[in-house]
Amino acid sequence: MKITIDPDCGFCFGVNHAIQLADKELSDGKNLFCLGEMVHNQAQMDLLKSKGLKVVSHSDLNALSGSTVMVRAHGEPPSTFSMAKELEIEIIDATCPIVTKLQKRINESYLAGEVSNAQIVIFGKPGHAEVAGLNGNAGNAAIIVHNESELSKIDFTKPVRLFSQTTMDAEQYKAIAAQVESKMNEYGNPDLIITKSVCKQVSGRTAGLKIFASEHEIIIFVGGNNSANGAYLFSVCKQSNPNSHYICNIDDIEPHWFLNVKTVGISGATSTPGWLIEQVADYIQTLKINP
Ligand code: SF4
Repeated sequence: MKITIDPDCGFCFGVNHAIQLADKELSDGKNLFCLGEMVHNQAQMDLLKSKGLKVVSHSDLNALSGSTVMVRAHGEPPSTFSMAKELEIEIIDATCPIVTKLQKRINESYLAGEVSNAQIVIFGKPGHAEVAGLNGNAGNAAIIVHNESELSKIDFTKPVRLFSQTTMDAEQYKAIAAQVESKMNEYGNPDLIITKSVCKQVSGRTAGLKIFASEHEIIIFVGGNNSANGAYLFSVCKQSNPNSHYICNIDDIEPHWFLNVKTVGISGATSTPGWLIEQVADYIQTLKINP
């Protein structure tokens, strides 16, 4: 069996930057709390926790006065930073620069909207941490849409400023934007600004991943349970190669998948560590596959 690891998989720079910051703090022997799971990958989280990282939620902040708390790559709404300031919590801000830039653009549109009456519309997953941070920069007044059926929440007679969560499917966002534009045209309202905010670290992998998936008899995709980009990138694999399997770690692997298989491709989400991908490859290599 020939096993090939997708050369484009591994942490994106946003996640890499956050992990490096956490590792630095932890290696200095400091207590470090993280607001939510730092990365949507259980294996990487287990490793960080073994080094001393503690995951906390917003409701724990009151008890963390004087401590150091990390904001992960997804970012946080402004209210979190004000609350931390009041509580004298030191924040280590690992918000991905791409997310920071998007938050800023949304905030500018929101503030300008006080004059233009524009609606801020975010294509994203309701309840996702990044969306909460983006919405917080729109005074928590953004309209969140997750699919075309939710476009009815928008008033097409008013101006619209459309954004996307960074890890959404770029093609789906294009389709949503086209629908919004067509509806607004129906009302004779041209006041629409679409911001292309899907992160290229995810969407930029689509073309290469399609080819990679089609070149192997089986694809093993390694990702976390809650990884939005993992779900999207896996769907790309599945379309090109129906014999694709999503796993979180080696325990999810079923040896019969590899019966009579000669070529295996392994890929992963932007939140999947390289060491876990290598571990999966080594494990598959040692499998004893019986007919
Ligand atoms: S996927 Fe893109 S936006 Fe999200 S953390 Fe990675 S680099 Fe940043």
